[in-house]
Amino acid sequence: MNIILLGPPGAGKGTQARILVDSQNMVQLSTGDMLREAKSSASEMGKKVEEVMARGDLVTDDIVIGLIREKLIGAAGNGFIFDGFPRTLAQADALGTLLGEMGSNLDTVVELRVDDDALVSRITARSTCASCGEMYNDQTKPQPVDGKCSKCGGTDFTRRADDNEESLRQRLMEYYKKTSPLIGYYYGKGVLSSVNGLGEIDVVKTEISQVLNQF
Ligand code: AMP
Repeated sequence: MNIILLGPPGAGKGTQARILVDSQNMVQLSTGDMLREAKSSASEMGKKVEEVMARGDLVTDDIVIGLIREKLIGAAGNGFIFDGFPRTLAQADALGTLLGEMGSNLDTVVELRVDDDALVSRITARSTCASCGEMYNDQTKPQPVDGKCSKCGGTDFTRRADDNEESLRQRLMEYYKKTSPLIGYYYGKGVLSSVNGLGEIDVVKTEISQVLNQF
């Protein structure tokens, strides 16, 4: 099964993708993670995208489509969760073509619906374990009091450079201008499902499972 998790920054795509990786043995493909990795490796591409990401703008279609193509070529079978990709209509078309070339297809697109006020407080409160990527939120899932990640015991927690109000405003603008048209695009293809992304993590997880159980 190949699915897209679609929604604005802070909607919970990464959190729900990680849950699916653990529970359904699927592979998470997050273009944001790939780009952050490129940035920290100080590669040519990393240098190119650093400022773009810090501003909250979208990286060019060529770069992200190239990253996804690299991951998909040679990957075995189905079972991908596309997290943060596609973000433009050109990326959506490219994904359709790539999956077709692999003899595969997209099963469903799960839209996580949330309102903007919730996004600001969620994003400015979030942090991640530097060792395993487990996600925390100061309000809803605080870091353990003993200072050790509940998943791997790591003690180093990081906050994303672009998780500040200014970048977030720009990331939201980009979402509404360039990514939200994908809701209509996938609705037209008959593959869109929407869930309320504002609930507790477990409630959203259950709603997503109900959607996926139909396949
Ligand atoms: P994310 O981790 O998905 O919130 O992405 C962080 C940042 O990486 C975004 O604000 C963009 O600058 C960039 N990015 C991630 N995925 C894409 C994509 N599919 N297209 C363009 N830019 C992306």
